[in-house]
Amino acid sequence: MEAFHTLSIEETLKVTESSPSGLTEAEAQKRLGHYGPNSLPESKTKPLLLTFFEQFKSPIIIILLIASTISFIIGEVVDAWFILAVLGINAVIGTYLEHSAAQKAQALKSSVKTYANVLRDSQISRIEAKDLTIGDIVLLESGDKVPADIRLIESRDLMVDESLLTGESVAVKKSAEKVFEDIELPVADQSNMLFAGTYVTSGRGKGVVVAVGLQTQIGKIAEMLAQKSKAKIPLIERLERFSKNIAIAVTVASVFLFFIALYRHMEIAEIFFLILALFVSAVPEGLPVAITVALAAAAVAMSKRNVIVRKLAAIEGLGSCTIIATDKTGTLTENQLHIQEFITPDKVIKDPQEMSETIAKTLVVANEAHMSKKESISSLEGDQVDVAFAMFALKKEPSFETLLESKRVDVMPYESAKKMSGATIKDNEGYLHVIKGSPEVILDYIDINEDEQRQLMDLIDQKAANGYRIIAVAKANSNIADIETLLKQKQFEWIGFSAIVDPLRDGAKEAVKRCQQAGIAVAMITGDHPSTAYHIAKELEIAMSPEEVMDAEKLNRWAENGSDPKEIADKRVFARVAPAQKLQIVQAFQQLGEYVAVTGDGVNDAPALKFANIGISMGRSGTDVAKESADLILTDDAFPSIVNGIEEGRRAYDNIRKVVHLLISTGFAEIILVLLSLIFSTPVPLLPIHLLWLNLVTNGIQDVALGLEKAEPGILNRPPRSPNEAIFNTVMIKRIAIGGLYMGVVAFGLFYYLLNAGYETDSARNLTLMLMVLFENVHVFNSRSEHLPMFKINHLQNPLLILSVIVAQGVHTAALHIPFTQKLLSVEPVPMRVWDELLLLAFGLVLVMELEKYIRKKIEVW
Ligand code: ADP
Ligand code: MG
Repeated sequence: MEAFHTLSIEETLKVTESSPSGLTEAEAQKRLGHYGPNSLPESKTKPLLLTFFEQFKSPIIIILLIASTISFIIGEVVDAWFILAVLGINAVIGTYLEHSAAQKAQALKSSVKTYANVLRDSQISRIEAKDLTIGDIVLLESGDKVPADIRLIESRDLMVDESLLTGESVAVKKSAEKVFEDIELPVADQSNMLFAGTYVTSGRGKGVVVAVGLQTQIGKIAEMLAQKSKAKIPLIERLERFSKNIAIAVTVASVFLFFIALYRHMEIAEIFFLILALFVSAVPEGLPVAITVALAAAAVAMSKRNVIVRKLAAIEGLGSCTIIATDKTGTLTENQLHIQEFITPDKVIKDPQEMSETIAKTLVVANEAHMSKKESISSLEGDQVDVAFAMFALKKEPSFETLLESKRVDVMPYESAKKMSGATIKDNEGYLHVIKGSPEVILDYIDINEDEQRQLMDLIDQKAANGYRIIAVAKANSNIADIETLLKQKQFEWIGFSAIVDPLRDGAKEAVKRCQQAGIAVAMITGDHPSTAYHIAKELEIAMSPEEVMDAEKLNRWAENGSDPKEIADKRVFARVAPAQKLQIVQAFQQLGEYVAVTGDGVNDAPALKFANIGISMGRSGTDVAKESADLILTDDAFPSIVNGIEEGRRAYDNIRKVVHLLISTGFAEIILVLLSLIFSTPVPLLPIHLLWLNLVTNGIQDVALGLEKAEPGILNRPPRSPNEAIFNTVMIKRIAIGGLYMGVVAFGLFYYLLNAGYETDSARNLTLMLMVLFENVHVFNSRSEHLPMFKINHLQNPLLILSVIVAQGVHTAALHIPFTQKLLSVEPVPMRVWDELLLLAFGLVLVMELEKYIRKKIEVW
C-alpha cells in the first residue's frame, strides 16, 4: 500500500483515481465489487462447541462427572449412565439457550449501524459506512467515527481522538495541508491522515478513502481487538459467585457429615452418595442459564419498544434509576424546528417574503445545511437549526441554494461548547462574515451600548419565556478574509434573532408523569436559554417554579465554588449548560445518592454518558461517540422510550428474582429433607439419582419460563429499588425459608410416616419423590409474584409456564409407568387415592405462601 501521508492531495487523488467532486455512483459500485465491503469481520458469537463444553465447567457438573466415574467403578453402571445422560441433556439445553441468547444480543448490537456522509456524483449523501470504497470523498464533523482510513483534503479545526490506535487519550490536531517525507512515520504522527475507528472530537474534515475493511490500520489489529475479554454481566457474576460459595459451604459441611456418617457406621458408598445428593440439591446450577435467557428476552422486548441495549448489565440498573437527566431538544421536543418569527431592530418578520434579500443572505451563510438527494427527491439535511434557517431564507430567494454549496472563504463550524457558528463568503469587492448562535454569545461581538444591549436582552427574554428557541444573527463586511480577526475586532452588526418553535413530543408529558409516579425524578439539561427551557419544563411539569431553574450564571458560580451537591438537589432545569458541566451535574446527583440515567447525543456528552449509572444515547441524532459511550440507545430519540426501558428493566429484575426464588427454595427444601434424615437416622429419603431427576429433568424448564413472565400490574407505581439491595433481601430470604421449610419438613414427615407404617424404603421414596415433583410444580405458581395474591395473578399470560408445568408433571408420571425408568429410578405407579392426599399436601404449600403474603401486607400497612 502506498504511504499516503507522503503524498500531496493531488497525488492522492490521482493514485486513488478520484476527484474533489467524488466518484460516480457507478464507479463506486464497481469498486465495491472489487475491494469488498468496508467492514471488519463481525466478532463472532462463541462457537457452539465451546458453549457446549463450557456447560461442564461448573463445580457441580465436575462433581457429578466424578460421581459417574465412581459409579462405573463400583459397578452401578445404570446409575453411571443415567448421570451422564442427564448431564448431556442438561448441557444441550443449556447450550441452546445460551447460544440463542448470545445471538439475539449480537443481532441487536449490529442493528446499530454507522453511517457516513459521502460525496458521489457531486452530491452529498448519507450511506452506510460499510458501503464506502477507495476513492470515495467523505465529509466528517465532530462526533463522527472515522469510517475508513482517509487522506485529508480539507480540514477545519479538526481534532481527533486516536486512543483506540495509539493509546494516547489527548485529541490530536489534523491538517490536510501537511505532507510528510518519512515513509516509516508512526501512525500517531501522520497528522494528514484519519484512521478508521478513531473519533472526530471537534471541527470538520473532508478526505479521500485510501483503505477499507481489513486493509485499514485497525483492520490489521482487528483480531487483537476482538480478543479483548468480554466482561461478564455483574448480576450473573454475583450469582455465580453465590453458587460457588454454596459449593464451598457444602464441601465444608460434607467433611463433618462424613465423620458423623462414619461414626454411625454407614457404608462409604452410601456416604458418598449422600454428600453427592447434598451437592446436587444445594447448588443452583440452572441459575446462570435462566438469567441469561431472562436478560436476552428483556433486551429483545426493549428493542421492540425502541430501546437498544448495548450493555446487558444496564437492564439490571434500570430498576434502580431514581433520576433521569434528559436533553430537551429532540428528546422532550420533536426537533422539527421552524422559524416562527425573525425579529430585526425595525420589524417582526413572520412571512419570509417580508424580509430583505440582504437579511435572507445572512441566514444561509453561517449555515451547514446541505441539499441531499435521496431517490431523486432533494431535501435539506443537516443540523435542524441550520435547516430551519435555510428553509426560511430560501422561501424568500430560492437561488440562495447555491450559497449553501458555495465554497466558503472561512468557516467556524458550530460546536455546542461555543454555542455559535460563523462563516465568510466573498461579497462584491470584500468579504461578508456572518455569525449566529445564542444571543449572549453573539452580543459579545457587537458594538452597542449597555442600554441597547439590555433592551435587546429584555425583548429576547420575553420571547424565550414563550418557549421559543432564540438564535441571534450578526454580520460584518470587511476586506479582511479571516473571521477570527474580525471576531477580535468586535465590530459586528446586529441583524436580528429568530423565534423558533419546537413542538413537544407526543406522549412526553405522560411519560414524565409516569416517571414521577414511579418515584423517578426528571431533570432537564440543555444548552438552550433558561426562559425557553423553563417554559417547556413547566408545560411538561418537570419544574413548577423558577426556583428550580439553574441558569448559566448560577451554574458557573456553582461549578466554580466546588459544585456542592446540596445546592442542586431540588433543581430540575439546567440551562445554558456547558458540556463539561453536564458531567458535574451527574456526579453531584450521584453524591446525593441518586442513581442517575443521563441522555446525550453530542461528542461532549461522552464523559457524562460513561460516568452516569445509565448512559442513554440517541439513535437518530446521536453522534457515533455518544452511541459508543452509552449503555442504551433510543432508536426514536424519544423520552417516552426511556420510560418503556425502565418498565422492561424492572420486569426483567422481577423475573430474575422469581427464578432465584424457585430454584433456591426447592434446593433448600431438598437439603432439609436430607439433613432431617440424618438427624432421625433414617435411610436417605431421596437418592442422588432422584435429586438429579428433580433438579435437572423435572425442574429444568420452569425456571426458564419464569424468566419470561410479563410485567406485574403496577410495576411503575412503586419506588425504585435501592441499588445496594441484594437479590436476597429480607422478603426473599423469608419466603425461601418458609417455602423451603414447609416442603422439606412435610416431605420428610411423609417419608418418616410411611416407613413407620411399614412401607418398603423404595415405595416410601417413590411417594416422597412424587410429592417433591408436585411441590415444585405448585411452587412455580407461588414464585410468580411476591406481592399479588394467587387469585389476582393472570395465570394465562405466560403459556410457556403452564406448558412447562404440564410437561414436567407428565414426564414424571410417564416415568412411573415405563419399565425402563421404573427400574432406573426405582419408582412405581402411584395409586389414585394417594394422588389426592399428595395433592392436598402440595396445595398446603400454596396456602402457606399466600398466608405469608397476606401477613406481610398487613404488617406493611401498620
Ligand atoms: P439543546 O440542549 O437544546 O440541544 P444545544 O446545545 O443544541 O441545545 O444548543 C445550545 C445553543 O446553541 C442554542 O440555544 C443556540 O443558541 C445555539 N445553537 C444551536 N445550534 C446552533 C447552530 N446550528 N448554529 C448556531 N448556534 C446554534
Ligand atoms: Mg442539541
